[in-house]
Amino acid sequence: MLSKKKKGLLIVLSGPSGAGKGTICKALMKKEKNLKLSISATTRQPRSGEIEGKNYFFKSEEEFEKMIENDSFLEWAKVYDHYYGTPKDFVLKNLEEGNDVVLEIDIQGALKIKEKFPEGVFIFILPPSMEELKNRIKKRGTETEEEIIKRFKSAYEELNYVSRYNYVVINDSVEEAVEKIKAIIIAEKCRVDRN
Ligand code: 5GP
Repeated sequence: MLSKKKKGLLIVLSGPSGAGKGTICKALMKKEKNLKLSISATTRQPRSGEIEGKNYFFKSEEEFEKMIENDSFLEWAKVYDHYYGTPKDFVLKNLEEGNDVVLEIDIQGALKIKEKFPEGVFIFILPPSMEELKNRIKKRGTETEEEIIKRFKSAYEELNYVSRYNYVVINDSVEEAVEKIKAIIIAEKCRVDRN
């Protein structure tokens, strides 16, 4: 029994746009070198500085739809008019090899993953306040006014989904949020009811 290789943990970070999950995720990956980050595919245009295969796999709508047809995704969703999806092979292979995998995805995606992997660790990242959330979306300066309003509205609606998650982490400071996530991972690994 003790020698049986354990599957890795599937850790899902999600929350409203502007809650800072991308920044937290980046800082977490820097600190915890053993975690494997799943790189999503998307049809949205690369932002300045984004690198193919590092931030996303950038696809045309046609390519993305082909990937859906070929059952290449664990989940996919349309978020703010663009497709986003989690490539299946990378995640399944790493979990099987005992590696812990992190997904940074939206709430629709997280709920789909929860159906397939109820044993996953679902962490909801919250901004310190809604005012702060609005400031962060604006400050990023990557979205048009119309997109900012759209993202802010859906952020409000998304708060209703907190109870579907296992943990909530408030992003007061990135360092503290990362420490909390590290603590959650350690606790999950110590659980006796996880096989
Ligand atoms: P952004 O365009 O700001 O990079 O991402 C927009 C939203 O899409 C974020 O909430 C991000 O977490 C989410 N997202 C990124 N990759 C995926 C994915 O593979 N699946 C789903 N469902 N959402 C994703």
